[in-house]
Amino acid sequence: MQLSLCLSKPAQHLKNPLMAASGSGSIMWFRKGLRIHDNPALEYASKGSDFVYPVFVIDPHYMEPDPKAFSPGSRLAGLNRIRFLLESLVDLDTSLKKLGSRLLILRGEPGQVLTRCLKEWGVKKLCFEYDTDPHYQALDIRVKEYASAAGIEVFSPVSHTLFNPADIIQRNGGKPPLTYQSFLKLAGQPSWASSPLLTSISSLPPVGDVGSCEISEVPTIKDLGYGDIEQEWIPFRGGESEALKRLKESISDKEWVANFEKPKGNPSAFVKPATTVLSPYLKFGCLSSRYFYQCLQDVYKNVQKHTSPPVSLAGQLLWRDFFYTVAFGTPNFDRMEGNKLCKQIPWNDDDELLAAWREARTGYPWIDAIMVQLRKWGWMHHLARHSVACFLTRGDLFLHWERGRDVFERLLIDSDWAINNGNWLWLSCSSFFYQVCRSSINKF
Ligand SMILES: Cc1cc2nc3c(=O)[nH]c(=O)nc-3n(C[C@H](O)[C@H](O)[C@H](O)COP(=O)(O)OP(=O)(O)OC[C@H]3O[C@@H](n4cnc5c(N)ncnc54)[C@H](O)[C@@H]3O)c2cc1C
Repeated sequence: MQLSLCLSKPAQHLKNPLMAASGSGSIMWFRKGLRIHDNPALEYASKGSDFVYPVFVIDPHYMEPDPKAFSPGSRLAGLNRIRFLLESLVDLDTSLKKLGSRLLILRGEPGQVLTRCLKEWGVKKLCFEYDTDPHYQALDIRVKEYASAAGIEVFSPVSHTLFNPADIIQRNGGKPPLTYQSFLKLAGQPSWASSPLLTSISSLPPVGDVGSCEISEVPTIKDLGYGDIEQEWIPFRGGESEALKRLKESISDKEWVANFEKPKGNPSAFVKPATTVLSPYLKFGCLSSRYFYQCLQDVYKNVQKHTSPPVSLAGQLLWRDFFYTVAFGTPNFDRMEGNKLCKQIPWNDDDELLAAWREARTGYPWIDAIMVQLRKWGWMHHLARHSVACFLTRGDLFLHWERGRDVFERLLIDSDWAINNGNWLWLSCSSFFYQVCRSSINKF
């Protein structure tokens, strides 16, 4: 598959392809943050611009098939996550079109593609959501360097998390807080929480002339080269519209929100899961964690009593921010070696045991059922993740947490660098938590 993705002519559906001939323009580079609501980068890109290029770059390493991988998907991502991403892009494109714009899909190594767009389109601003993930940090340095040298303003706000991890680390004397309670103390109330977030936009400036850049519509799984692969039915559809619908449903039950108490809840409840299943939407930024938090605060204000962090629903979002902060401030956070937070443990290395765990062949029905759910749906309840991570590491097989982390990283739809590594460090007793048993787990 190569060219099915790319139209060699300028994009169709541009309102006026020659719009960019004069005036000031900006690029809105979508990576995560696949939403219209609470998107400060998009807001800034639109402000004072005659035209805006909303861009998403398909990185072949992330999207195109790798026949050598242990499950259908690319080198870096399982097919469920790729499909969820494509659905999210289609939804974003639909929303942009309603606002008089559209999503421009380009293909290639994102740094090179972006640099080429910056050269070709003569824009004055480049806007994208800040990302603490090391992959994006390295990419952003390259793109920013080019933009700055070319006199292009770069606006890259922190909006994926409730807080700016760098601020918290600075407040703690340059080190990340290592306990949830110390994190809460340092964090306080989010600075943006005193005024309501911008959650709707009535229109966007039109898209400009794309010159000779190859633009396409959002591809399908088939376009990406996966042929007619049979797709499992998955209960979670990607996209901002679905995220907002799911959020609305969750918070409409005020009593449920007020009484939410992790880790209580049935990890094997499938028809109506015991938690929100908003993690895939938060991962791709189809849902703003800030908007989610604001909605929860609104519920809390209108009930007589409610649970509190760490067990409340707002407390779960704070766990997310906690791991983002520690991960951002810890060199080699995703490794045992060279990671100051991580206990150095002589894990066993056994490919057969690892494969049995990964392929749901351990013979322990509970463990195997969870691994089947991971492969089929790409999402499991938190306590189910606890069970299989504990089983692989300290609990039974005594295999390296990095091996299990890799399997989750590929197969989870919500796979998130900071949260996944943080939880594997936790569950393997390599960091944060060192008890062999946990009472809530023993119930299952
Ligand atoms: C070994 C292991 C690996 C994990 N890997 C990931 C991962 O890659 N991506 C991911 O999003 N979550 C991960 N989690 C955390 C957690 O299991 C999921 O966030 C949660 O199950 C998602 O379901 P939910 O959206 O219904 O959560 P809810 O309970 O409804 O919580 C709302 C949101 O809070 C955040 N949250 C909840 N629990 C945690 C937690 N323990 N740490 C950080 N944030 C949390 C998530 O963003 C979640 O969507 C992992 C947990 C374990 C034990």
